[in-house]
Amino acid sequence: TARNADLKALIRTIPDYPIPGIQFRDVSTLLLDGAGFRATIDRLAAMIEAEEVDLIAGIEARGFIVAAALSYALGKGKVMLRKKSKLPGATVGIDYALEYGTDRIEMHLGAVKAGQRVLLVDDLLATGGTALAGAALLRGQGAIVDKAMFIVDLPDLGGAQRLTEAGIEPITLLV
Ligand code: 5GP
Repeated sequence: TARNADLKALIRTIPDYPIPGIQFRDVSTLLLDGAGFRATIDRLAAMIEAEEVDLIAGIEARGFIVAAALSYALGKGKVMLRKKSKLPGATVGIDYALEYGTDRIEMHLGAVKAGQRVLLVDDLLATGGTALAGAALLRGQGAIVDKAMFIVDLPDLGGAQRLTEAGIEPITLLV
């Protein structure tokens, strides 16, 4: 069985992407490795009890890959938090600040029921801005969002701290 260090080694770092000075952690190389991806999902799934989750929310686009696999592993349904104007039905959305400009994520109205416990999922936690926007969107529909799961945490960027302050426990496999 692979050690976490072996899984981490499957994630390559691309310097100066998307802008100079950023070291981008590219999970596409982990996705290429079947055994590595399976071990990643098995470990994440073991970090939560299925009974603690009613629904999984994946953030477009890499978050969908992790959310789909966890949905299968835990036997829970999933909701897509999509970029602007991608969903065919009636939506509810939230705008959030990026380093430069703003972005928007949306979900189908009625996808989440009030009182449901939703596990938020993405590939990587950096500043936490994306996850906090997702949590605000879900909470606005009455969902309980108290845990969020990521393959990678970049602790220097403070996302785990921000999520904790917002009442969300970050669950991460690799730093
Ligand atoms: P945050 O909102 O926490 O600052 O950034 C996290 C979001 O941006 C996630 O949706 C994640 O997919 C993406 N992201 C930011 N930096 C990286 C990175 O270095 N690698 C990957 N794979 N995604 C990143």
